[in-house]
Amino acid sequence: MNSSVFWLMRVLALFFTLGLLLLSAPAVQAQTALPPGPHKPIKYTRWAYPSQVTYGPIETGGGDTGMAPARGAFLTLPFMGPHYITSIFDHCGPDYSVSGRVCRYDGAVASKSVGGPDPTFDAGYAQTPGGHDYLYYSGHDGYDYGLYYEPVAASAPGRVMLADWLVPGCTTCLSGKTIEINHGNGLLTFYGHLSKILVSRGQYVARGQVIGISGMTGTATGPHLHFGVYHINGGGPVDPYGWSGPGADPWSRDVGNLWLTGSPRYATVQMPSVSVTAATQVDDPNNIDVSWSSPGDMSFTIYVVTRHGTERAWIGHRGNGSATFAGKPGENYWFWVTASSDLGWTDGAGSAVITLSHMSHGAVSA
Ligand SMILES: [Zn+2]
Repeated sequence: MNSSVFWLMRVLALFFTLGLLLLSAPAVQAQTALPPGPHKPIKYTRWAYPSQVTYGPIETGGGDTGMAPARGAFLTLPFMGPHYITSIFDHCGPDYSVSGRVCRYDGAVASKSVGGPDPTFDAGYAQTPGGHDYLYYSGHDGYDYGLYYEPVAASAPGRVMLADWLVPGCTTCLSGKTIEINHGNGLLTFYGHLSKILVSRGQYVARGQVIGISGMTGTATGPHLHFGVYHINGGGPVDPYGWSGPGADPWSRDVGNLWLTGSPRYATVQMPSVSVTAATQVDDPNNIDVSWSSPGDMSFTIYVVTRHGTERAWIGHRGNGSATFAGKPGENYWFWVTASSDLGWTDGAGSAVITLSHMSHGAVSA
């Protein structure tokens, strides 16, 4: 065959391969954010996943609700980094009874009678008949975020009221491993389905402090964080977004938009971001100078990894620094450095591999 036809076929094959990659990559990512709750898991793709709030399907920490904060606003997001919003607070009865309607903070309503079950997900109701625009789910009293075994942050300063199984001893009941924080303003925040709890009852926590690791304990079809705000002493749930819809808030216990700026934002805390370098000394090539740093004031652990893969902690150090490692000729080494902030956020990075020469000093200079 003629070479230009052959070339064209190769180009087409390349485009076909790239196309497959483009189609498959986001779907894999979306797979990690299955809608949670006491319903069966569903299959969906990123572009079909409906926005649960007005500014999109993903909470990026930069969304704009267009609403002003209430006077008592005190919340930041209970995590860092972009995550799917997989379920919203249902203003039409946030009491886990299925009413056939899901009502959002801005007045949007998805119902069984108008939109009907969503074609891709019959547990959520579509806003328009046949539309891929369901809201999820009827009776929900908080927000679900697609966290996958990730750090959960205190959404405001306060004192831990509960750090245990919600139902003592029951690993599959309700929200499983749960933390409640009393914020001293008549409200508590609630973090459910955790895999790990990192605080204890009575402890004071700071905004943005890592209090646990998300998971899927209790009743959950996949890993996610249930985040709720409740009146202390059994006064029931409130929607942190408040109500901006037409007419009166169908949920009379709300106390306004509780996000600090009026829109959900990450807590402003210094996150660790580790840099590490390793290089042999010019005048003694068996000595390796290792230096580590991160923005902020972090606690570091420096590990030495040998060519056999054994790793041992070498140095614990507060703050950026450097040290000299005396290696053996003919060996190779690299260095793994972890940093953690006082609020519990962590990061890690490795150096390049340093191979030391077999030759002795004399041999090098000879
Ligand atoms: Zn939930």
